[in-house]
Amino acid sequence: MIYLRNIPDDELFSAQLELLMQHGRIASMMANLIGAIAAMALLWPYFEPQSLLLWGFGLMILLLLRSLYMSGALADRRYVSRPKRVFWLLILGSAVTGLAWSGTYIYVGQFLPPTLQYLLLLIVVMISAISLAVMVVVREYFLVFVFSALWPIAWWCLAHFWDQPHNLLLGILLLALTGLLVAASNGIHDTFRRMLSLNWQQEAMARELGQITNSLRDRNLQLQEARRQLTDLANIDELTGLGNRRLVNQTLREEVNRARRSHGWLSVVLIDVDFFKKYNDTYGHPAGDEVLRRIGDIMQRATARAGEVAARYGGEEFILVLPGAKAADALRTAERLKRLVYEENIPHSASEVSDRISISQGVLSIMPDEDVDPGVLVDRADAALYTAKREGRDQIAVV
Ligand code: GH3
Ligand code: MG
Ligand code: MG
Repeated sequence: MIYLRNIPDDELFSAQLELLMQHGRIASMMANLIGAIAAMALLWPYFEPQSLLLWGFGLMILLLLRSLYMSGALADRRYVSRPKRVFWLLILGSAVTGLAWSGTYIYVGQFLPPTLQYLLLLIVVMISAISLAVMVVVREYFLVFVFSALWPIAWWCLAHFWDQPHNLLLGILLLALTGLLVAASNGIHDTFRRMLSLNWQQEAMARELGQITNSLRDRNLQLQEARRQLTDLANIDELTGLGNRRLVNQTLREEVNRARRSHGWLSVVLIDVDFFKKYNDTYGHPAGDEVLRRIGDIMQRATARAGEVAARYGGEEFILVLPGAKAADALRTAERLKRLVYEENIPHSASEVSDRISISQGVLSIMPDEDVDPGVLVDRADAALYTAKREGRDQIAVV
């Protein structure tokens, strides 16, 4: 993603046109309208009402047409698709409005006493000054208006300075005023452009920031998912799909803490397949794997309660973690497991204790009042398992 530092020229141009039309439309219409009303009031005693009203009406139509054109161009975004055409039409509108004012002044001036001439001129100057604020966003638009409204009057005054001596002063003053307005327009226009540029940069940055935030959020979700999958992989035994020793140790640590806080029971059942070496020797290692898988399924069925964890502790040893289970509960689970393995009826001709696969189990039940290491718990369950083995296998011993 590339961060665009400068507004492209064509975009800046369209933005200038948009700003001019949005904000300049009503403002310049109002300025011209107030000027027209003031001029009509001023000229009322000197002209016939019909001609004055006709003049005012003509000016209004001109302003209305200009305003309608602007709202049309704004609505269909013509200033973006054909900015040059919009620009030239706006310039034309500005020139015609300016000429309407200078023409009015030059034509009616001869019928007015000097004081009223000054007042009429003041109106035209005021409209030009107000236009500076709203029209200068497109400088040419402002300059065309100023030059078409003020210059003809200035030159006309200079050309007629013999008729009325004050015309010389007026002409020079108007030329100076035009120069002043042009100079002022430079500064304001540059500020406008900078403002537009900054605005554009800000919007571009906000857009890019939004995109970056979105892609970061997506990446974060992917990472979370990957981490979850990794944790699953790290905690699961590949052969049986049960939890592995890592998961057991983690669960035991958590459950010991929970039992300590709630003064509850925690039971661990360690399970070992009887004469499994002989089974492998007799039926082959792949068949042995299949037995481990089936025992894994049975263990999953035997641990239905929430929080209970069945895992393969290593080799042909399995483990059950039974939170909240007292010795009697754990014994019941162990017996159910024993019965399920028996009912699975996997023939084991080399077993010395049964005609089928059997398991020995060591059960440990404690109410931990101090932090006990998971290894210690398993060792104690293993001691019980050893007892079960020693006392003939296919049985359960409780510590
Ligand atoms: P007992 O526990 O009754 O004393 O006799 P055992 O023969 O089961 O005891 P031992 O611990 O000596 O043997 C365990 C055997 O389990 C040895 C090994 O070949 C087998 N074994 C361990 N892991 C796997 C495995 O992933 N797949 C298979 N097929 N066999 C395994
Ligand atoms: Mg073993
Ligand atoms: Mg064994």
